[in-house]
Amino acid sequence: MSSGNEKIAIIGAGLGGAVAGALLQHAGFNVNVYEQAPSFARLGAGIHMGPNVLKIFERIGVDQKVKDISSTPTHWFSRDGITGDYLSRIPLEGYGATYCTVHRGDLQAIQCDALQPGTLHFGKKLARVEDSGSDVLVEFEDGTSVRADIVIGADGINSRVRETLLGEEKPNYSGWVGHRALISADKLKKFDLTFEDCVKWWGPDRHMMVYYTTARRDEYYYVTGVPHPAWEFDSTFVDSSREEMASAFEGYHPIIQALIESTDTVTKWPLFNRNPLPLWSKGRLVLLGDACHPMKPHMAQGAAMAIEDAAMLTRCLQETGVSDFGTAFKLYEANRRDRATRVQTVSNANTFLLDQEDPSWVYGYDIYAEPLKSEYAA
Ligand code: FAD
Repeated sequence: MSSGNEKIAIIGAGLGGAVAGALLQHAGFNVNVYEQAPSFARLGAGIHMGPNVLKIFERIGVDQKVKDISSTPTHWFSRDGITGDYLSRIPLEGYGATYCTVHRGDLQAIQCDALQPGTLHFGKKLARVEDSGSDVLVEFEDGTSVRADIVIGADGINSRVRETLLGEEKPNYSGWVGHRALISADKLKKFDLTFEDCVKWWGPDRHMMVYYTTARRDEYYYVTGVPHPAWEFDSTFVDSSREEMASAFEGYHPIIQALIESTDTVTKWPLFNRNPLPLWSKGRLVLLGDACHPMKPHMAQGAAMAIEDAAMLTRCLQETGVSDFGTAFKLYEANRRDRATRVQTVSNANTFLLDQEDPSWVYGYDIYAEPLKSEYAA
């Protein structure tokens, strides 16, 4: 069941919010998306989109566009960071859709383009949200406001909507940072080395995940996980340096040394997480993605969980209509909590695909093929 009149407001046009908007609009709902950024920017660096996500992209007709701009690795290799020995060779084909690695900004542009014209509003930073019981007042920092029947908080790890539901609480610093660098593939040509499509280099307490972010394989990307006792900076990331990278990965494999030598700029990001939340919705407000279950990024499934949330929330609202949002939100949580928490736990532990394991439970999952569990399981 879909609806034409009741209004849905989504806060945040990140990787989960934009897809939620497009899926709900395809299902016939009246949706507007409000994003704090003043305009679209090619933010971020590399991101994996597994077959579990590509199956959802088919629903909004963007799967081919994403495949066209992505690198599509056939395997995830895990290798010993020092000796280069293969610890696992995980096939990425055979899960019902393609495995893509891509630039986050390019992906987000495709997602935002899938929204109906005029429904994505930039420069709208949520200041306050108030559930009156009969609707929701959404106030932005620019002094404007809108009213909606339900509000979806897709506003990321520091979610204002989460704060309204559960109070102010900073996310937990995990004790790890991630260095991120994009390298022009031209720079790698001088080395007599093979740079694989998707490989994770593992050390005893640190790692480096490496892959291409374009179909042309002209941009190679690495992201690390390195212990760092405290995040002493105010900003969301700081500049790192080739020297810092060389010291963090001293004695590691020649391919890692080649990547560091080819690095022009590298940034350093704190990795945060939260414990599973006691509730995912209250009244007319509901959360998805990092607002709800942020995780360390080591399984490359954080955005995937946001997008799966978007698909399940849409499915549940189609079952009930917006007017019975209470049942829809319970159904949504009942059908998402276990999987999102499992992925959050494995991702935080950083063990995924280290050994030769079967990842079908992640990649083979088809959110549309799962029977809906009763709302009373929430
Ligand atoms: P976001 O994508 O963070 O979007 C939130 C949006 O809300 C933003 O656009 C923000 O501007 C907006 N917003 C925030 N506050 C407000 C406000 N008050 N008003 C209006 N708008 C607001 N995940 C993967 O699936 N694969 C990967 O390979 C991967 N690699 C990662 C690597 C690193 C180093 C990190 C840190 C994360 C990685 N992730 C990966 C995780 C992934 O980036 C997040 O899980 C994902 O972006 C979450 O999507 P989201 O929509 O919940 O939040």
